[in-house]
Amino acid sequence: MIKPICRLGNPILREICDKLTKQQVLSEEFTQLKQDLYDSMKHYGGIGIAAPQIGVNAQVALIELGPINRYGAEVSLPLTYFINPEIKVLSDSFEGNWEGCLSVPGMRGYVERPNHIQVKYLDENFEEQSFEARGFLAVVIQHELDHLYGKLYIDHIKDMSLLSFQEEFEKFILVQK
Ligand code: ZN
Repeated sequence: MIKPICRLGNPILREICDKLTKQQVLSEEFTQLKQDLYDSMKHYGGIGIAAPQIGVNAQVALIELGPINRYGAEVSLPLTYFINPEIKVLSDSFEGNWEGCLSVPGMRGYVERPNHIQVKYLDENFEEQSFEARGFLAVVIQHELDHLYGKLYIDHIKDMSLLSFQEEFEKFILVQK
């Protein structure tokens, strides 16, 4: 079911989400939560979404990144649910991107993040998984998993002159890239 998106200012976006237990993950309620997250992500046109964005305090986020996406990046990730995830940074190098967020609608901001990470998480069967990600995929994973720790991309903007409405971003910034 499509749920309304919690926007900047809603305190749930600033909560540290609770870890899920095996019993919770294997429950019918969780199957419904996964569906709600997926439906909402698709409806609002996101490439990822996290539970607090639909008002649920739980450590689960999902990402589905097709080879064609609105960020024009040449990386992809099939639909993946990240439960109780942890990120380990594997590089001192950073990569900058103009990020957007369903919870901060109509805006883009320039954020630099580590460009090589390892992510460990539990899958829908509560089995441990991990993989390494680089570049744009590493950025998307960090953005989504930040939501589970009460963080938003705007917290990482170092130069606030690089925060823009989407329309102005397209008009003044995108043309210069
Ligand atoms: Zn977001």
